[in-house]
Amino acid sequence: MSISKKEQTLLDKIQEVSLRRGFAYPTGEIYGGLSGTFDYGPLGTLMRHKLINFWREYFVKEENHFEISGAIILPEKVFKASGHVDKFNDPLVQCKKCKSMFRADKVIEDNLNQNTDGLALDELDKIIVKNKLTCPQCQGEFMDAREFNLMLKTEVGSLKGNVSYLRPETAQNIFTSFKRVSHAMRAKLPFGIAQVGKVFRNEISPRQFIIRVREFTQMELEVFFAEEQLNDPPRFEELADEVLPILTREQQDKTEEEPLLVTADDAVKKGILPNAAIAYYLVKEKIFFEEAGIKPELIRFRHMLPKETPHYSGGNFDLEVKLSIGWTEVVGNAFRQQHDLTSHEKASKTKMGIQHIAGNVIPYVVEPSIGVGRTMYCILESCYKETDDRDWTWFQFPSTISPYDVQVCPLMKKDGLEEKALEIFDDLKAEGLEAIFDSSGKIGKRYARSDEIGTPYCVTIDYDTLQDETVTIRDRDSMEQVRIHLDELTEALVLLLSGEYSFTEMDKILKEKNES
Ligand code: AMP
Repeated sequence: MSISKKEQTLLDKIQEVSLRRGFAYPTGEIYGGLSGTFDYGPLGTLMRHKLINFWREYFVKEENHFEISGAIILPEKVFKASGHVDKFNDPLVQCKKCKSMFRADKVIEDNLNQNTDGLALDELDKIIVKNKLTCPQCQGEFMDAREFNLMLKTEVGSLKGNVSYLRPETAQNIFTSFKRVSHAMRAKLPFGIAQVGKVFRNEISPRQFIIRVREFTQMELEVFFAEEQLNDPPRFEELADEVLPILTREQQDKTEEEPLLVTADDAVKKGILPNAAIAYYLVKEKIFFEEAGIKPELIRFRHMLPKETPHYSGGNFDLEVKLSIGWTEVVGNAFRQQHDLTSHEKASKTKMGIQHIAGNVIPYVVEPSIGVGRTMYCILESCYKETDDRDWTWFQFPSTISPYDVQVCPLMKKDGLEEKALEIFDDLKAEGLEAIFDSSGKIGKRYARSDEIGTPYCVTIDYDTLQDETVTIRDRDSMEQVRIHLDELTEALVLLLSGEYSFTEMDKILKEKNES
C-alpha cells in the first residue's frame, strides 16, 4: 500500500524524490544497504561540487586562507593527543533481551522530549529506570548505560597492533600540519587552514536520511590568530553591522526558541560573543547559507550550554537550521583557544609556536566546521515546493547550488530540431554552463522533470529556430518564457544565473529590443 503525499512527512518526500531522481540513495542498495551510509548520485554529486566550490570561493579564496587535503587514516597518537581516544564517546544502552543497542540520550529525548546534553551515565540510567523506558524493538529492560567510542578503528600494514583510526573530523590533520603549512607558505598571523574531506563516526543510531550518518564530508576551517588580533580581525568592519540571530543561554534557560537579533558589533560589545573573530565568521556563515538557498528565518546560532561545551572552549555556537524534524545543528563553531596546538606540542614534543612580531606565539583558534550532507539536506527542505500553479513538486534552488544551470529541449525530435538542439547544448557546455539535454516525451513533461530537480532555466528549440536562429528561455519560478537570438543566449543565461538580471528585467529588455 502506498501512502499519499498528504500523509508523508517532508523528510519522506525529500527522501523519495532524492532516491527517484538520484540525489542520494543507500550504499550497496541492491544488497539492502549499509546503515548510516549513502551514495550521492549524479544530481547529488553536481550539487555537492557546487556547494563545495561556493564554500571554497567564499571561505578560502576570499580570505586568502590555505587549503590542504590530508589523509583519512591517522595514527593513534594523533587522537590520543586530541582527546578523541578517551572522550569521543556517546552513551550506549543495550537491551537485556534482544541485545539491540541505542543511544541512551536519544531514547530519553524521543520518549520524554527531555534535553539530556551533558548528563553523566548514572544520571541517564536514573531517568531510564524512573520512567520505565524499555527497548523500542522488544520492550525488554536495558542494561546500564556505558560509553561507546565513535571512532572507526583499524590496523595499518601487516604488523599487528599498529592501531590507526579513520578520522572523525578533518581538523586534526590541520593542527598536525600547522607548522609545515605556516613555514611552507610563509604565513603571517592571522591566517586559516581549510580542508574538505571525508570523516567517519560510528554513530550508534544513524537516522534521518543523510542527516545523521556514519560517513560524511566536512568543510572545515581553522583560523589562527595572535591573542591581540581576536578583536581586530581583517575586514570585520565590512560585516560589523550585519544582524545575527543568536539564541543566548539565558533564552534557553527560559525555553525560548526565537533568537535575539543583534548586530555583529553589538554582540561583541555586549559580550554575547567572545570576540570579533567569531562574530565575523558567524556573519559569513549566515550569508553563505542564505545564498545557498536557506531562508533567513530558518537560521539561528545557539550558544551551547556549559554542559555541552568542552572545558578548553571559549564558547561554542552551533548554526542551527529549523527543519521539519526540529532545529538541527549544521555548523559547529568553536573558539578552541590554544588547546589543540598546545596538546599536540606536548604529545609530539614539537614546538607549535610561530614567529609573530617580536616573539614566538601559540595562536588562538576559531573553528567553523560545516557538514556537507546536512547542509544539502537543509537546502533540499528549504527549497522544496508544492504550489498551485503546477501539479508537480519542484525545488527553488538558487543557481549557486542547483545541480544543472540549464536544460536544453528540442520541441520535437524530428525535422532537424534535435540536431540543432544538440549543437546548442554542446555550445552551452563549452561556455562552462552545467547543461542537461532532454528530448523524450511531451515538452510539458520535460519542463516538469526540469523543475523537479530545480533547474532554473530551460532552452527550447522549435521550428522558428531553424528559420531565424531564435530560441525560448523558460523561467522555472514564473514559468514565463522569452524569445532570444542564439547570439545572445549564453550571455543572457550567464547574467540570469549570476543574478545580475532578474527574469522580468531580461524579459523587459528583450521585448523593448524586439519592438524597436
Ligand atoms: P561536530 O564536529 O560534531 O561539531 O560536527 C560538525 C558538523 O559535521 C555538524 O555541524 C554537522 O553538519 C556535521 N555532522 C556531525 N555529525 C554528523 C553525522 N553523524 N552525519 C552527518 N553530518 C554530521
